[in-house]
Amino acid sequence: MYLVQPTYLIKSIYPKAIWRKALTEKKLYLTFDDGPIPEITTWVLDVLKQYNVKATFFCVGNNVEKHPAIFQRIVDEKHSVGNHTYNHLNGWKTHSPLYLKNVSRCKELVASNLFRPPYGKIKKTQFNILRRYYSIVLWDVLSGDYDKKTSSEKCLKKCGG
Ligand SMILES: [Zn+2]
Repeated sequence: MYLVQPTYLIKSIYPKAIWRKALTEKKLYLTFDDGPIPEITTWVLDVLKQYNVKATFFCVGNNVEKHPAIFQRIVDEKHSVGNHTYNHLNGWKTHSPLYLKNVSRCKELVASNLFRPPYGKIKKTQFNILRRYYSIVLWDVLSGDYDKKTSSEKCLKKCGG
């Protein structure tokens, strides 16, 4: 179970995070998390190229280390990259010093001032420290495309399609 759209209550806990951009902008910001992963990330890059669309990839440091060529392709094709920790840690379950160290380890591989906490789970102390160095980007709509039980039509519907 996950929330397609974060509630007002959740948003009010982290008002300094970026949930969506100004309503006056008629823009959609596409973000892809957890890569770079062979086949999936390269497929996404191919599709984006086909439609001449740019996106932001929140990368896991360990995956960048394992697949540097795919990461380089993201950068070369002028997409944005963001930090998504080195080991995809759940902030709620991780002691803050370890969490922050993990973010720093990812930073060595992913040069970015954007950070997205894995699962959207981050403690207030972690958030308050990281927001000094990063724009913390959450999301406005979660398509749920990682759920194997859901169809692409259902994902599209969640996105208002
Ligand atoms: Zn993730």
